[in-house]
Amino acid sequence: MTTIFSKIISKEIPADIVYEDENILAFLDINPVNPGHTLVIPKEPSTDGLETNPEVLSQIIKIGQRVAQAQKKSLGCPGVNFVMNNGEAAGQEVFHTHLHVIPRYHDDKCFSKAMPTMSDRTKDKETAALLASVI
Ligand code: AMP
Repeated sequence: MTTIFSKIISKEIPADIVYEDENILAFLDINPVNPGHTLVIPKEPSTDGLETNPEVLSQIIKIGQRVAQAQKKSLGCPGVNFVMNNGEAAGQEVFHTHLHVIPRYHDDKCFSKAMPTMSDRTKDKETAALLASVI
């Protein structure tokens, strides 16, 4: 599937690029959660992280780590979120694999820490066994 990110890779549309090599591109998100919010993408198109070649996925994470270290060093953020939305139900809007690398500050209130959690854990053993049986 062709997405807006393919056009950024081919330089048909502009982006604020922070890193580029043969396989990976990293550029600033146009709707940043905080300044310096960066997207790390593979040049080889894949829909989401579940479809990405594991070698390529590990390159994305490696570059994401370098971007996060650069954010800490240059922007002074004490924390960084790595976020990857896989599938529409998970909040994915652009269907070209991407890792969000988001600078975070104490009390910046970007994401709520008060996420609802499941109180019913009665099926945990069954669920763990189900997952383990197909991994
Ligand atoms: P997601 O919801 O995980 O699919 O996130 C897609 C992200 O891509 C959003 O945070 C958008 O702000 C960002 N985005 C969409 N178009 C562009 C663009 N042309 N340049 C930079 N970031 C973009």
